Amino acid sequence: MSGNESRLQAIYQITNREPTPVTMTERLGKIWADDVFNLARMEWALSKNAFKAVKKTVQTGEPLDSATADVVAAAMKEWAVSKGCKFFSHIFYPMTNITAEKHDGFIITNSDGNAITDFTGSLLIKGEPDGSSFPNGSIRMTNAARGYTAWDPSSPAYIMNTDNGAVLMIPCVFMSWTGEALDKKIPLLRSNDAMNKAANKVLSLMGETDIAPLNSSCGAEQEYFLVDSNFANSRPDLLLAGRTLFGAPAAKGQEFDDHYFGVIPARVQVFMQDFEDQLYRLGIPAKTHHNEVAPGQFEIAPYFEAANIAADHQQLMMTLMKSTAKKHGFTCLLHEKPFAGINGSGKHVNWSVGNSTQGNLLDPGSTPHENLNFLVFCGAVIRGVHKFGPLLRAVIASASNDHRLGANEAPPAILSVYLGDQLEKVFQDIKEGKLLESAKGGEMDLGLSQILKFERDPGDRNRTSPFAFTGNRFEFRAVGSAQSVSGPLVAMNTMLADSLNWIAEKLEAELSGGAKQAAAVITVLKALMDEHGNAVFGGDGYSSEWHEMAVKERGLKNIPTTADALPALREESVKELFKSTGVLSPIELESRFEVYAEQYVLSIEVEAKLVIDMAKTLIYPAATRYISDLAIANASMAEMDIEADNSIAKTVATEASAMMTAVAKLGEAMKKHDFTSTEEHMQFCAKNIRGLMDEVRLHADALETEVADELWPLPKYQEMLFIK
Ligand code: ADP
Ligand code: MG
Repeated sequence: MSGNESRLQAIYQITNREPTPVTMTERLGKIWADDVFNLARMEWALSKNAFKAVKKTVQTGEPLDSATADVVAAAMKEWAVSKGCKFFSHIFYPMTNITAEKHDGFIITNSDGNAITDFTGSLLIKGEPDGSSFPNGSIRMTNAARGYTAWDPSSPAYIMNTDNGAVLMIPCVFMSWTGEALDKKIPLLRSNDAMNKAANKVLSLMGETDIAPLNSSCGAEQEYFLVDSNFANSRPDLLLAGRTLFGAPAAKGQEFDDHYFGVIPARVQVFMQDFEDQLYRLGIPAKTHHNEVAPGQFEIAPYFEAANIAADHQQLMMTLMKSTAKKHGFTCLLHEKPFAGINGSGKHVNWSVGNSTQGNLLDPGSTPHENLNFLVFCGAVIRGVHKFGPLLRAVIASASNDHRLGANEAPPAILSVYLGDQLEKVFQDIKEGKLLESAKGGEMDLGLSQILKFERDPGDRNRTSPFAFTGNRFEFRAVGSAQSVSGPLVAMNTMLADSLNWIAEKLEAELSGGAKQAAAVITVLKALMDEHGNAVFGGDGYSSEWHEMAVKERGLKNIPTTADALPALREESVKELFKSTGVLSPIELESRFEVYAEQYVLSIEVEAKLVIDMAKTLIYPAATRYISDLAIANASMAEMDIEADNSIAKTVATEASAMMTAVAKLGEAMKKHDFTSTEEHMQFCAKNIRGLMDEVRLHADALETEVADELWPLPKYQEMLFIK
């Protein structure tokens, strides 16, 4: 079935669907983390000594001896088998935004020919997927294609239940034969280490003595669209590209503001409950859900967790969202801009750092002592965003997120920090030397009492800022909805590590020169603000004044496309950042540039091919059929001596022909292959291919508003966004 028939069938199916039965969800206490092999479960299943060893591994990352690994593996297998698992899988996080898994049976046969189950410590700890098909940015030649997965004990194993059985999933890192990181987990773990070391240095200089290991935390708010699968299945663009490449705006969009926080449609509510019950079983703390701004758009936010766990959970959430939506007759769109003309979807990454002794270091706290720690860490973030703004832009760069950034609905493509009025004033005072005077006078009283008054939950949220302080954390708002949170977390942790190292060095010099603690801190922060204060901006990030001021007066960069953004990964300062902190070697960094650049080019080329295909095989035929219908009608009218109006037929013919001219131009552009560099190829996609795709769309969307509705082959915006 194709063309208009499938569109009509879709509408029929949806309007005649049985109401979704309301299911009662299970008690939280009964299902919480029921499918997770967490520490509590290990304590129950293991001997005291084995548990002590594994707990140490979980908490410190120290390797597990092989005897204990065998014991843990046996207990894990027994638990998993008792819950219906026949298979286990190392799950890892390659340089795509999705996960990879290879299932292996617990089964082996013994010499009597009987089937028994077996799972050794070495199978738990190490896997050898034939990884040559994973993106590696030419780190591995295909003749040395072996990749290793290794258990990450800090992220607990869990059971993935599907309609086709249960599988024990073991979160893993993924590396090459030569030890390079081929995944998104290794850099995240390393960046956390780098941040921990640097933070430790600074906290010691701040006079702290009892300093527990520091960890970064992440709470990611995920926006998404739900479209009935009947519609999605009738649109090749939604199926293959995850977004509509064509589609005239509906008469009504989001202008009434009647969707945001509105009553959640019953069918969606049932989906959410089912989805969240699964999350609870997996120990993922789903906390908030609501309608988002655009019709058909929703948000889910879990409670924040340690960054490494949050990142794994976020990947799992995206997988489950898609599969659960399918079960409920929806297609879940995680694309950043599935529909033109209405809001796209982001993933706000809330991020903080802290430990069990000093607490959250991005919380201003309630005593001057805590305030000083806070000011140092907050200052470190300001410096990071200023110095590594282009890197932050690069780690959120993708073909799909480009549609969002810089449009007047999403954070601009200029990286700045929003602090809120009060905190901005404190840092301004530091810059102007006002706080230094009071700091020199002895204990910080006057100066820092300003921060004591600082509201922890400021009401004036700045939605136009890509990077905002929100009371006790920073919120990186420009991250795309389909992206893994790892890249942004790695960049934030690493830039923080670099800034803290810089601060430690300066602070040490001040202190050894005899300065008092508070005065030393304020002196260093003043120097920091003199050099990096330009990144602080509290105004309207969407305004054209800011776009001009940011670039001309503040020296910040406006980086509109991925083609402009990714080359930042090749800059010396960024190479040095990752090398000096030990987060990514130059080879690993270069491989990331290559992989992401290739993904960018491929995504645009796939879309361009689809544009050509859909224009030729779906839209043009509908237009010509309509012209011929009109011709027949006009001929009949002429026979009846009724004056016929040819204007519509002419408009349709003109638009159809203009569309095909644009298609031909796009086809011609796609033939170009003689690029001298990846950068040039990316720029060609950004500047030429994208523009030509828009040109085809312009005419196609004009045709949608002219051609008889009954002939139109693609579900329309009003249908996809409003039919429930
Ligand atoms: P918003 O009002 O910004 O939409 P939400 O409640 O939807 O807020 O999401 C806020 C996210 O920030 C949640 O995931 C929450 O757990 C997380 N969060 C709260 N405090 C912290 C913190 N200290 N560090 C990291 N994330 C945090
Ligand atoms: Mg929210």
